[in-house]
Amino acid sequence: MTVPSFVAVPGLVHGFERRTPGAPAETREAARQRVAKARTTRGRVLFLTQVHGAAVVRAPWDGAPAADAALATAPGLLLAIETADCLPVLFVDPVRRAVAAAHAGWRGTAAGVARAALEALLASGSRREDVRAALGPAIGACCYEVGEEVRAALGPSLAHCFRDGAPRPFFDLRAANRAQLEAAGLAAAAIEDVDECTRCLPERYHSWRRDGAAAGRLIHVIGFVAR
Ligand SMILES: [Zn+2]
Repeated sequence: MTVPSFVAVPGLVHGFERRTPGAPAETREAARQRVAKARTTRGRVLFLTQVHGAAVVRAPWDGAPAADAALATAPGLLLAIETADCLPVLFVDPVRRAVAAAHAGWRGTAAGVARAALEALLASGSRREDVRAALGPAIGACCYEVGEEVRAALGPSLAHCFRDGAPRPFFDLRAANRAQLEAAGLAAAAIEDVDECTRCLPERYHSWRRDGAAAGRLIHVIGFVAR
């Protein structure tokens, strides 16, 4: 699944994964191999060991470093983010032809991981006004019941992203990440949002909340193809 303003960028490959109806279950490694070998992903697909933090690594790398955000400023390096309810955030600077990506659950959001990815892109030379972001499929405010410790961790600046429920509150993960990116200087119009709930749409998405430990992972990718 693509977003319109990213499709318009020549040489950019990006996509948020949807499940293939009827496809057999696959291991995480098999899913990685499938994406790495896909015809559309010309270049090296680079994976992370995601740990719900805010560290950003710069491509290329070997193995799968422990980080939840990444940056690539050269063609042929495709960044992969794996999710099953957490929010994937993709960034592109069409002018410098640079990309970034982040994996944001509530812990990563509390740590400011999407903002960290944006700041890394800017630190590498991108201009804020050139950067566009896309929020992918994630568990929606309709389904994301959380404990009070989540509300405490996110702090007063994101209090508007919680809705009281009985007995526990519901958290709007995409609204929180949008708010953080806007606070970091991205224009609202520069942030696209696919706005689909992974838990509500079993035919399209894996969901940890719905499927538990057996849930598969969706693999989302962004990068410029090798010339
Ligand atoms: Zn939902």
